[in-house]
Amino acid sequence: MNDLEFRQQILDTKSESFCAAKWYNATIWLGSGQTTSCHHPLPHAIDTDEIKQNPKAIHNTQRKKMEREQMQKGERPSGCEYCWKIEDLGPENISDRVYKSKIYPIEDLNRAFRTPASQDVDLQTLEIAFDRTCQFACSYCNPAFSSTWVNDIRRNGPYTGLVSDGRNHFTHTHDSSQLYKFGEVNPYAEAFHKWWESDLHRTLKELRITGGEPLMSAETWRLIDWFKTNKGKSKTCLAINSNLGTDVDIDRLLEAIDGVEVDLYTSNESTSLQAEYIRDGLVWDDWANNVERLLDSGKFRGIHVMCTINALCLDSLDSFLECVMNWKREYGKNAINFSLNILRFPSFQSLTVLPKNIRQSYYNKLHDFADSYRHTAEMHEFEWNQLQRLLGYIHEATEAHKEAMAQSILQRDFKNFYQQYDARRGKNFRETFPALADWYDTL
Ligand code: SF4
Repeated sequence: MNDLEFRQQILDTKSESFCAAKWYNATIWLGSGQTTSCHHPLPHAIDTDEIKQNPKAIHNTQRKKMEREQMQKGERPSGCEYCWKIEDLGPENISDRVYKSKIYPIEDLNRAFRTPASQDVDLQTLEIAFDRTCQFACSYCNPAFSSTWVNDIRRNGPYTGLVSDGRNHFTHTHDSSQLYKFGEVNPYAEAFHKWWESDLHRTLKELRITGGEPLMSAETWRLIDWFKTNKGKSKTCLAINSNLGTDVDIDRLLEAIDGVEVDLYTSNESTSLQAEYIRDGLVWDDWANNVERLLDSGKFRGIHVMCTINALCLDSLDSFLECVMNWKREYGKNAINFSLNILRFPSFQSLTVLPKNIRQSYYNKLHDFADSYRHTAEMHEFEWNQLQRLLGYIHEATEAHKEAMAQSILQRDFKNFYQQYDARRGKNFRETFPALADWYDTL
């Protein structure tokens, strides 16, 4: 069954807004006590009183229960706008609710749809962040997720003059992201460990650790150790997000995961100096070498490259994907794959900020890349579909999200932000993105 048939026959026959991620998937930030069903809806707070009685409420929040009920009735939860926007572009468009539902058995989807929305459900896939320690400060990230971003704001003060939706990402140190100091009792972490020890380690199919940079957090190494010392106790597959930066201890990682099944997720979406500009802290050659070291080791179930599609990466996205395809040819189609996640916040970094002629030239480049892989064996169906959907988005999308401001305002914020970013980080927008320089000068 292809993706479209899956949507029509399995999801839409329940309801046209049904998505299993609302039941079986979660991202939980233990530092800030927040959760969401997938990366698209904005996170919301977990109730500390509720989790004292019931640790499962770190996932089964009242908000998610309400949204499950909406989906059972065919109503669209507003936080899932990312998917509705893709689907509204055309009846054959495949949104993430397909990909995020397809990974679960059909009987579990049926059960979720029948389960009263007020009931707790057991998670099957969980992404968890222990803290925000990170040696990178990517342009589309912010102090809530990176301690290096916190240092930028502490050292240089807030970014000024931004007026659109992402402005507050860059104006303060987001101390609410780290509610408890190291060594203090964190009720969210307590609830997670309680649930993990009681039954989560048996019911969970995949546990993905994110950050910050998880390999800089002692909690991550502790969990890897748990799997080593409790062999056979849990069937949960372990997945780790890592920026694979220069100072990530790859030797320690390869040694620590010996005998444990692990998937590795890493992020990138452009090449060389452009990648180093967008993902401040990254050294392109080191990142590529680290990917190759992991592939050479043969120790991972898969390496997954997550591309965050922003206004700047389209210049070298095709070369970047070519690089992933070369790795596929060398190590096998399943050794490494990519996903294309379209950035919506802050909207001044969305590709919708670009003028039509530049978007058209990027569309053409990416279209040529896609065409050259149309019938090749290396490309997975989900990768192909994501490419098509991105092409549609580059061509059609007029706004990053429903509440985004007018393009002229976003363009002003775009220039304002990157001027400050250049000054703080010792970078040069015009030299790094010559194809955008003339347009940039007009802003
Ligand atoms: S944003 Fe899409 S994939 Fe995520 S929970 Fe909502 S419908 Fe599912």
